[in-house]
Amino acid sequence: MFIVWGSRGYQKRLSETEGLVHCEHFNNDVHYEAVEIGRHFTLFWIPLFTYRRQYAAVCPICGRGRSADAKAELEYLMAALSTPAPDVKA
Ligand SMILES: [Zn+2]
Repeated sequence: MFIVWGSRGYQKRLSETEGLVHCEHFNNDVHYEAVEIGRHFTLFWIPLFTYRRQYAAVCPICGRGRSADAKAELEYLMAALSTPAPDVKA
C-alpha cells in the first residue's frame, strides 16, 4: 500500500477596489484586486487543509502591488487604496 501526499498552490480573488488606483508600473489607472495566495495540503490529490496563507492587493494587469500579513490588514489596505488622496492646498 502506498500513500500519495503533497501540496498545491492556489490564488483566490476576494474583491476589488471601488475606485481606480494608479499603477506606477504601466502608468495606468485600474481597479486593484484583493487576492489570497496559499497552499493546500493534499492527500491522494484531494486538498484537505490550507497551511500557508498570504494576502495582497495587486494590479490585475502587471501583478504588482502590496502584501498584507493578515486579512484585516488587507481590508484596511483596500479601503485606503479606494480613497483618493485629498488635494492639499497651501
Ligand atoms: Zn500594473
